[in-house]
Amino acid sequence: MDQLDQRQVSCPYCGMAVSVLLEPMAEGQDMIQDCGVCCRPIRLITEYEPQFATQTLRALRDDE
Ligand SMILES: [Zn+2]
Repeated sequence: MDQLDQRQVSCPYCGMAVSVLLEPMAEGQDMIQDCGVCCRPIRLITEYEPQFATQTLRALRDDE
C-alpha cells in the first residue's frame, strides 16, 4: 500500500535522466533533490490528478 512511485525526469541543468521517488497519493509536493550527475538542486513539484489517479511531475531549476 505504501509503495513509492519511481519516475524519471530530465535534469533542468544538464539534461540527464534522474530517478525520483514519489509518495503515492500524496497531495501536491514541492521538494528539492540534487541531480546525481551535476549535483545541482532540482526543484520537483508534483500535482495529484484525481481523474487519472496519477501525479504529474515537473522539474525546475532552483535558481530562477
Ligand atoms: Zn544535472
